[in-house]
Amino acid sequence: LSQLFRPLDMLGWVYRTIRQGVIDMGAMFDLIDTDAEVKDAPGAPALRVDRGEVRFEDVRFGYDRDREILKGIDLVITPGQTVAVVGPSGAGKSTLARILYRFYDLTGGRVTIDGQDISQVTQASLRAAIGIVPQDTVLFNDTVGYNIAYGREGANADEVAQAARGAAIAGFIESMPDGYSTRVGERGLKLSGGEKQRVAIARTLLKNPPILILDEATSALDSRTEAEILDTLEAIERGRTTIVIAHRLSTVVNADRIVVLENGQIAEQGTHAELLEQRGIYAEMWARQQAEREAVAEAAE
Ligand code: ADP
Ligand code: MG
Repeated sequence: LSQLFRPLDMLGWVYRTIRQGVIDMGAMFDLIDTDAEVKDAPGAPALRVDRGEVRFEDVRFGYDRDREILKGIDLVITPGQTVAVVGPSGAGKSTLARILYRFYDLTGGRVTIDGQDISQVTQASLRAAIGIVPQDTVLFNDTVGYNIAYGREGANADEVAQAARGAAIAGFIESMPDGYSTRVGERGLKLSGGEKQRVAIARTLLKNPPILILDEATSALDSRTEAEILDTLEAIERGRTTIVIAHRLSTVVNADRIVVLENGQIAEQGTHAELLEQRGIYAEMWARQQAEREAVAEAAE
């Protein structure tokens, strides 16, 4: 019987999540792909975010029983701090973000926000508190205004325009003859990677979450566009508890703390300066990326 109900549960979940404004289609695919075992506990209360402290306590998780991906993560992000998570591809960085959003339940340990176990509050309230800017934003085949307004149900035109200003894309939108009614996506105006990321940032500003996750948010952009967008991102990180996942280290030097994840464990942590001094994994990654950047700069001369 439970087999029968599962697809229905999942549909309900997808529907609720869309209504709550999950940020992108990628997240939706993740969702469909996800075990419908993630359920609200009976009578679960809503999450109350007070200061926005995020705490991972001995977090263990694997997608499959026989392969642990997160192997005991202990991490405290104090309210309003920006913590960067870096490390090789496959280390488990995005998994950490998905765990905080509770796409999956843990096999061990717990995650709390302001002292509340995220598995014991409603998913709706948890997801309302967290904004995600992903690597690639997929736009709906609709107007650019709709694509921004999607960040928060019931937003009015003024609020959409204000969010667009915050994301530094209002000028571009307002210069088009149809303004916010301009159709975008496959059947409309094709936006550049940087413009799409600005739409995603505007969505997130409209949602105004106390907790923010940037998962390789600028890694698909060329370095000039990235530099332009980083300023905007730094502005929206202010006053929010932020996790910045990045492969390119130039984007994390200003973080309050940098955590190096390797093979599902925290291998090093500290500020940029502290980690350079340690001459460990981070210092080596930094040196390698600096050398690559210099090589690119020389080739461009
Ligand atoms: P990162 O973001 O650090 O590159 P991920 O967290 O995406 O790494 O992935 C960590 C590991 O988990 C990788 O080995 C990846 O192949 C595996 N993985 C990621 N998503 C899934 C999934 N949906 N099902 C099974 N394995 C997955
Ligand atoms: Mg990733």
